[in-house]
Amino acid sequence: MGIEIRKSICRVCSRGCPIDVEIKNEEIRQITPSNPQNGGQLCALGYAYKEYITRPDRIRTPLRRVGERGSGQWESITWEEAYREIGDKLLKLRAEYGADTVAFYTGYTKWYRPVYQRFVHSFGTLNYGTESSACHQSYRMASELNFGVLTTPDIPNSDLFIGWAYNPFYSGNSQGNPLEEFRERGGRVIIVDPKYTPAAKLADIHLRPDPGTDGALAHFFGNYLIQHGKTDEEYIAAYVHGFPEYKRYVRKFTLEKTAQITGIPEATLLTAAELIADSPVFSINISGAAIPHHTNGMQNCRAIQALLAITGNFDREGGNLPVEYPVDALNLKVEWDKFVDETRPLSEDGSGYQNSVAWHKKNPGFRAEGRKTCKPKIGSGRFPLWAQVVDEFQSMDLSRQILEGTPYPIRAVFALGMNRRMFLENEKLMEALGKLEFFVDVDVFWTDAAKLADIVLPACTSVERAELVCSGPTVRYVSPAIKPLYQSKSDVDILCELADRMELADPLLRRGYEAIVRHVMMKIGITFDDLRSSGAAMKIPGKEPYRPGKSLQLGLRTPTGKIELYSETIADIPEEYGLNPLPTYRDSLPRKGKNEYPLTLVAGSRISTRFHSRFNGVRASDYFRAVPSAELHPLDAQTLGIRQGDAILVTTPTGTMRVHAELTKAAKRGTVFMFQSYADEADVNRIIDGNHLDPYSGFPGYRTVRCKVEEEQAV
Ligand code: SF4
Repeated sequence: MGIEIRKSICRVCSRGCPIDVEIKNEEIRQITPSNPQNGGQLCALGYAYKEYITRPDRIRTPLRRVGERGSGQWESITWEEAYREIGDKLLKLRAEYGADTVAFYTGYTKWYRPVYQRFVHSFGTLNYGTESSACHQSYRMASELNFGVLTTPDIPNSDLFIGWAYNPFYSGNSQGNPLEEFRERGGRVIIVDPKYTPAAKLADIHLRPDPGTDGALAHFFGNYLIQHGKTDEEYIAAYVHGFPEYKRYVRKFTLEKTAQITGIPEATLLTAAELIADSPVFSINISGAAIPHHTNGMQNCRAIQALLAITGNFDREGGNLPVEYPVDALNLKVEWDKFVDETRPLSEDGSGYQNSVAWHKKNPGFRAEGRKTCKPKIGSGRFPLWAQVVDEFQSMDLSRQILEGTPYPIRAVFALGMNRRMFLENEKLMEALGKLEFFVDVDVFWTDAAKLADIVLPACTSVERAELVCSGPTVRYVSPAIKPLYQSKSDVDILCELADRMELADPLLRRGYEAIVRHVMMKIGITFDDLRSSGAAMKIPGKEPYRPGKSLQLGLRTPTGKIELYSETIADIPEEYGLNPLPTYRDSLPRKGKNEYPLTLVAGSRISTRFHSRFNGVRASDYFRAVPSAELHPLDAQTLGIRQGDAILVTTPTGTMRVHAELTKAAKRGTVFMFQSYADEADVNRIIDGNHLDPYSGFPGYRTVRCKVEEEQAV
């Protein structure tokens, strides 16, 4: 047989780059970029996707634990046996203790999430949590609180682009191009990042604030623009709620004070402020990871977004445009949201009912009679704002609730892709999983968490399954390029088949993925059969290009319908939580311990050939930074008597880790950058306090941790 090229997508990260899978004798020969989509580009991880798919530690069959938890003793079972055991146990727990005693969790990937969430709702609980408890969602919260919607920078039409922790060259390579093109056309660029990155090379000004001080920097710019008459008064009067309070608050962010907080020289601050003031049309990109990963991260995101509000650069050409358009009638779309809502139970206390509280207030009729009620989601008592705004439980409270049993016991976890590496002080998560009455984990590869499960199920990768891909104004149905390897299955097939064996009261879910796709596509004007046979991305008919200003005219999905610098949603949270409706700034680095731990550990810094722990053990990743290391500025290293490659100990108030020194001027003085997901003893999240969390979002403060560094031999 000759070589055949089949079209598919890479799902190592969420971008879903189109790929050509070269097949011979039903085996993958190589994976290359699919032209002309994606500019003919893949990142290093995409080129290594074949190695990822064929990792030797793939889970091959459904397995039942036969020895002690974690002893590694398993027996193979059939899919039917697995479904029966899982279904019987979950239904028994639901009958005895209620549906909320089961926590449903998903790590990566994300493609099946609406189906999973509907499965959870059909089971009868809101206890659905994801890895978004530590990724992107805090930034999304900020956007929804301020604007009622996510935004995206309209870079091509900007005069100035501000990239706040913007590093597209290491996370999704093809995103780098708009910036290069913008620069070539004479656009001005400010990059804000304590680290020197490839994007910083393209900047007119590279600002290097101390980690976690972004909110103070934004407020300085806000104050400067107000003091110099560079705000858009007409726009503010028409569309902004809370400007007088904001104006009073940011007054204290003077040049001197901001230089002191951020560690940026006064002259550099002034140069940047002048450039912003002289650029009436600017757009901002805020990293959904680096900026929220501080204990003040959500409010820092709001503070940065406030600059768009006071200058009229939200919903304006060249500024930031709404990502989701709020009126369905004008923007036909695949109806995943409705699909998730159709079986949603109600929370006893009304929390977390809809992503947008404002939407919920405007749609009271949605609370249909006869819906089941259930307990508030995990983490609702500790992170009430998260519970209100985000349609998921806050996973950072999962291990505490399992171990303490309050406000109610969690007896079982059903997970797809549970990975300890995301969690702070993650021994606690392992302890909690070990104490469960029942734990199921579905995954492509073996993980530490999967080893603790009672039943493990094998999932397949993107080239082995079908997937409906919705991207902007287009949809595409990607058929499997190869059959699932071993006995693995698509995550969605697992969920639908399990729903059927459990006889959940959800006929659509039980009919399987194709029926679901047909259902959600019903109103978009393309038939499923046409989409499947085409295999290509098809434009949704009637979906018009967005006209800037339309969302403001229609009213935003915030409680006041305006941009809320003073958030009425936060104002509704009981006072005892101490949350401020203005985007106030406070330090993320703990005040205590400055003398003993003089350096700032920044956990989560990206490496171009790795993505979280997904490439651990894949040969291609071992060529670059295979030895776990921490990046230090050479002058800090010199003071500590440390040389390149030395074995060093990084110590926080929570623990110590042995790694190697990587000396680089890319690190700001006083900071220690570490990649996040090295295996086992070099997993940096193990030495970060499990309570180092943002009270607004519950997000971990990975990137502002007090630490000290010593040469190993010197200790
Ligand atoms: S950016 Fe890289 S890892 Fe992400 S989908 Fe594209 S090729 Fe795959």
